[in-house]
Amino acid sequence: MEEMAASAREDGARGQKQGRRGCKHYDRGCLLKAPCCDKLYTCRLCHDNNEDHQLDRFKVKEVQCINCEKIQHAQQTCEECSTLFGEYYCSICHLFDKDKKQYHCENCGICRIGPKEDFFHCLKCNLCLAMNLQGKHKCIENVSRQNCPICLEDIHTSRVVAHVLPCGHLLHRTCYEEMLKEGYRCPLCMHSALDMTRYWRQLDDEVAQTPMPSEYQNMTVDAYVFVDF
Ligand SMILES: [Zn+2]
Ligand SMILES: [Zn+2]
Ligand SMILES: [Zn+2]
Ligand SMILES: [Zn+2]
Ligand SMILES: [Zn+2]
Ligand SMILES: [Zn+2]
Ligand SMILES: [Zn+2]
Ligand SMILES: [Zn+2]
Repeated sequence: MEEMAASAREDGARGQKQGRRGCKHYDRGCLLKAPCCDKLYTCRLCHDNNEDHQLDRFKVKEVQCINCEKIQHAQQTCEECSTLFGEYYCSICHLFDKDKKQYHCENCGICRIGPKEDFFHCLKCNLCLAMNLQGKHKCIENVSRQNCPICLEDIHTSRVVAHVLPCGHLLHRTCYEEMLKEGYRCPLCMHSALDMTRYWRQLDDEVAQTPMPSEYQNMTVDAYVFVDF
């Protein structure tokens, strides 16, 4: 009888290795060594989806290169094979990703999607807002530290884009869209939530979680806050 060639082709394995850089959340050339369980994950979100606890991004100390597999302290480039771990790297959040004009806001304590020049940090709202809102918005103290009034989950560090209502209250964009099916008032203060609806219809297809196409940026930038986590 005939045996199938035992020398399994390596094409598959190689192809897999080449094609794989990062996860569905981030483009990065390294894995994070989770400070909590010592397991290797591409990102905090991948970790949190698989474990029963959350990874504290600020505590990450080591990463593993996906190319040479060397474990080393967190840095932008592999010290062994020079693989670039991330076009963007924040040494505070240990965020590695392709360049989306991120910046680290010290007051927010996290990285946000910029460009930085387009945003200012309002100390009263305690949040980075679009430049054109400077002096022209209703400050609500620590507004982003309040949970979303719809889903009651965190807004400040959520990856879901936050939507600023005309009254100044915040909710997740996805929750805002759900809310519009039910009614048009801010659930916190009952003010009309409608001012921007006209734009929404237009932009629904265009705006993703990632930076919006530049041609729409001016039209929408005052309605969103981006978090890059
Ligand atoms: Zn863990
Ligand atoms: Zn991930
Ligand atoms: Zn390496
Ligand atoms: Zn950061
Ligand atoms: Zn900020
Ligand atoms: Zn403010
Ligand atoms: Zn929500
Ligand atoms: Zn409100």
